[in-house]
Amino acid sequence: MSKVQKFYITTAIAYVNAPPHIGFALELIFADVLARFYRQQDVEVRFLTGTDEHGQKILQKATDMGKEVHTFTDEISHTFHVLAKRFTISNTDFIRTTEERHREAAQDMWRRVRDAGYIYKKKYSGLYCVGCEAYKTEHELVDGKCIDHKTIPQFLEEENYFFKLSAFKTQLLDLYIAHPDFVVPSSKFNEVKSLLKDIDESFDVSISRSVEHLSWGIPVPDDASHVMYVWFDALVNYMTGVGFPHDADTFAKFWPADVHLIGKEINRFHSILWPAMLMAADLPLPKQIAVHGWIHVDGQKMSKSLGNVIQPDELIEVFGIDASRYLLLSQIPFTNDGDWNWERSKQKYSADLANNLGNLVHRVTSMSVKYFSGSLSRGEGDEVVDIKKFHEHIVQYKFDQALQLIFAAFTILNQQVDEKKPWTLAKEGRMKELEVCLGEWLSHISVLAELLKPFMPETAERILERVGGEKIIVGEPLFPRLEEHV
Ligand SMILES: [Zn+2]
Repeated sequence: MSKVQKFYITTAIAYVNAPPHIGFALELIFADVLARFYRQQDVEVRFLTGTDEHGQKILQKATDMGKEVHTFTDEISHTFHVLAKRFTISNTDFIRTTEERHREAAQDMWRRVRDAGYIYKKKYSGLYCVGCEAYKTEHELVDGKCIDHKTIPQFLEEENYFFKLSAFKTQLLDLYIAHPDFVVPSSKFNEVKSLLKDIDESFDVSISRSVEHLSWGIPVPDDASHVMYVWFDALVNYMTGVGFPHDADTFAKFWPADVHLIGKEINRFHSILWPAMLMAADLPLPKQIAVHGWIHVDGQKMSKSLGNVIQPDELIEVFGIDASRYLLLSQIPFTNDGDWNWERSKQKYSADLANNLGNLVHRVTSMSVKYFSGSLSRGEGDEVVDIKKFHEHIVQYKFDQALQLIFAAFTILNQQVDEKKPWTLAKEGRMKELEVCLGEWLSHISVLAELLKPFMPETAERILERVGGEKIIVGEPLFPRLEEHV
């Protein structure tokens, strides 16, 4: 591994128009694996998540629910905070774009970009989708409707501030060539590259709204008649989280971000707009944009109308926290869309967690206590996991494959137990041999539990409590049988 001293990772900030769904939980878990992994390597980690709280859609939603907008955003933001706690996410900060520190950061950024000459005012009219918070061109519509929202956009005419995105076309191209891993996976990078080819002045981004159309936003500096358009505001959160603009030391230490982890639907904003904004402000660019796919259910997109939406809590109720993390990480690859199926997940819980890992820990600890009262010397044994490969998988976001390596090792250890038949050794009085076998398995389990920590932190700790101390402990089953009714 290359020597890194700090690691700054962010998730997208969640838009607070609705409570969290499983896709965002998965994004948090992906980021958490990396944060915990780097901490294990003694790297100083900053891990930011939070909520995106401005915009017409949010004001609309609050109004529809008869709530004051601050009350509404407080409530929804809290549900995301709780979600992170529920899944034992180790974020070091939680940002809300309605915070004062963020208002200052967004306005500072605006001034920098403006003073560098990349913000201009222009009369604009077009078809505006409130759901997307964006103007739509005709060719983006199907039957006159937004593809994502299935609604007819409204005609709007206003004079707005624009960000001169088109001025950065060449610089962005140069960036993409100089940093072939700027966006991963490459399929997602290719989408952005082909989009960039078409960029001209018509792609300059409207970055403000008149307060007549939108009052719920950060005021544009030196112009009280406009508020910032949500993306210009939202993207800056990544810098707010590391002290921009006032805490120069923290900012210098942690910026640029090592990775912005995002869902594929917001790739273009992060891979084109955001680096261009930073170029305009003469600030360092993030090192990588890592784009993950979506969770489908039984091969179909999750949707309310299909009734197949999975609530994050539902998962925890059925499987518990760490098993939920495992089942998501092992079945939903980072770089593609993945499929969730309840029946298959239950089978996987039994096979991998209860029967493989749980059983291994149980039988080895039980025999250690039964035959040696829990006190026995530990061996070293051969390496059961290719650590180099394991690290490679993690830094390449192949979390499912990293887990496969660990669980393949559990399988091998279980096979060794079956073959060695320690109970026969005990019966024949070959206690020295028996102690060597158990000691080796115990130390292997300790090593594997350490590797498991970023993925299943609580489980790893429970295993280490049992096998890592002076005296071996036999505990309750790590993965109890699932309730029948689920
Ligand atoms: Zn839309």
